[in-house]
Amino acid sequence: GPPRSRSCCSEEPPVLAPSASGPFTVVLLGDDGVGKTALAGIFAGAADSMQCDYEPDGGEVVEQHMLVDGESATVTLLDTRDSLNTDCCPQAGDAFIIVYSITDRASFLRAAELRVLLRREREPHHTPIILVGNKCDLVRRREVSVNEGRTCAMVFDCKFIETSAAMQHNVWPLFEGIVRQLRLRRDSAEA
Ligand code: GDP
Repeated sequence: GPPRSRSCCSEEPPVLAPSASGPFTVVLLGDDGVGKTALAGIFAGAADSMQCDYEPDGGEVVEQHMLVDGESATVTLLDTRDSLNTDCCPQAGDAFIIVYSITDRASFLRAAELRVLLRREREPHHTPIILVGNKCDLVRRREVSVNEGRTCAMVFDCKFIETSAAMQHNVWPLFEGIVRQLRLRRDSAEA
């Protein structure tokens, strides 16, 4: 059946008008330890709540209402624990966030692999994909430069952003960017 979504924290997100766009399903992909759970936790609002029952060990589904450019959107975020098992994902997602850690070159190579796997399954122009270099707060442990990330994204025809889940830097711009891309796709499909 459809993924079960639930509200994560004691504080409910602001009530918005019925969604004019979505619900969109966004899938988080990437190696273990790159920060997918941390990013999903911020998305769920977990960072500000100690009463959150967010379970970092299971695959998680979080639904959130967002207000982007004055228009509401409902986003269902899938945090996939087993990044090697992409069999389920290409069908499940309207958009994909491929995360690596800037402190871990192997995770960067894995991100490129995942991008190739996705391209095999999906038309690149129809599915928004964002390459995310997380942990950009760890400057002294950096193994992947900003330019490498940007170049990789250019080669793979996707967007790019560096984030820090720890510092909550660029995390909302990431999710807002996904919504904007999904709307562009929707609008061009309607045109
Ligand atoms: P996942 O396996 O991809 O879900 O990765 P997690 O979200 O579990 O994160 C793995 C580890 O990296 C945890 O100890 C996190 O606290 C840490 N972490 C995640 N994001 C960041 C970040 O942006 N900066 C720093 N310094 N640590 C992070």
